[in-house]
Amino acid sequence: MKLLLSKKKERFLFHPSLTKLITHKLNYVYNIVGVNYLLIILSLIFTAFFSNLNGQTSKTVKKVVHSFQIPEDYLREPENIPSFWITTVDEVTKFLKNNVYKGQVEIIGKSAGGNPIHAVFYGKPRQGKGTTTFSGSLGFGNVGAYRGPDHKKTVYMGMSAVHGGEFEGIVGTVNLISVIETGKDLRGKEWPEITAIVAKLDRIILIPIVNPDGRARIPLRMEAYRDTDFTVAEFLNTGGKPNGTITGWPQIKEFIPTDFTRPGFPGGYPNDAGVNLQHDNFLGKRQPETQALFNLTERERPDLIINMHTGSVYMLMDHPLGEPALHPAFDTLFKYVHTGLALNGLQYTKDPKIEGDPARASTGVYNLDGALNFNCGALSVVVESPSHGFSGKNEAGEPALQTPDMLLDAQLICHQEAMRFLVETGGRSVWTPGRKR
Ligand SMILES: [Zn+2]
Repeated sequence: MKLLLSKKKERFLFHPSLTKLITHKLNYVYNIVGVNYLLIILSLIFTAFFSNLNGQTSKTVKKVVHSFQIPEDYLREPENIPSFWITTVDEVTKFLKNNVYKGQVEIIGKSAGGNPIHAVFYGKPRQGKGTTTFSGSLGFGNVGAYRGPDHKKTVYMGMSAVHGGEFEGIVGTVNLISVIETGKDLRGKEWPEITAIVAKLDRIILIPIVNPDGRARIPLRMEAYRDTDFTVAEFLNTGGKPNGTITGWPQIKEFIPTDFTRPGFPGGYPNDAGVNLQHDNFLGKRQPETQALFNLTERERPDLIINMHTGSVYMLMDHPLGEPALHPAFDTLFKYVHTGLALNGLQYTKDPKIEGDPARASTGVYNLDGALNFNCGALSVVVESPSHGFSGKNEAGEPALQTPDMLLDAQLICHQEAMRFLVETGGRSVWTPGRKR
């Protein structure tokens, strides 16, 4: 039996190094043969024209054609996908276009594959500039010298889908935007505490999909739930062989950039240049997505960045490898968020003393969050969500089922408590203004 489906999509691509709009075509051909699902991305070959001061020149940019193989069953979706479950690049773009009125939508950069990265902004940005670099302000002993005259204003940033196969954070960010815009999430549930806290923050920046290339590589709105079997979720994230075996975590990190010519599927971790943005070459040649985050955070100088991922049994915040001076602020943040989650039945126990203990957090390696910390002084933390595709096991060895509703609640409670922490503790300039010399 052979079934051939094809979907053509045409769009405009603006490459920063070019001066003219150029068009290219993306064709996805879904070729189902037996158990193998062949996803071919074709015709990424286009001619780009650009000019320089000496006159017109032209250059042909050739992108490689990749074919990815995913077992057919791995691309099964649930029969009923909840209406609040907005996760694809197209769905998110449409949602932002139709639902953002109080905020401003801005394209903060383009991915390696040419996809726009959207951010939504609320409130007023910091006014004025500092007089020194962030490093200089630490040496001087006052971060206000970097953060500028209104350095005490509070700026919150939330971002999701640095890894394209981790959909929960996208759902959370989109629904948080809905709450800020209307007071309700996309289920119609009201969040009066979020509304009250948002009013006390000076600035909020939300990025639903940091890695649109990785997200677009996975042709699914929602994964089917597979009890405690994580094979499919892991395959979609970290990639694997044509027979469906997974590359796995952390093995996926041994090769950056990923070789897209290898048979099978590279997963949703990397951008179209094959780079896992959480582990970019931060001090060297950065990927365009990372550069967009660096530019944005330098411009906005956020106090707190919540970097939403998927990969825990119950929602869990990681301790970033960054400035030691921020450790006490992290511990307080951890208490706020995990107390909120425990009291709402979204942790192992309902005991805030147990769940809110920051000693539970493991310290990450040098990665995007440490890099953002050193770029702009923000406390930047990874939060790992459970997956909608499978259940982890609790301490009794039983499946810790998190329904899509619970996953969304956890996302919104995390943002709510993280924002409350920022409002009540006053931000970077209060947490650790600097060491006087
Ligand atoms: Zn991740």
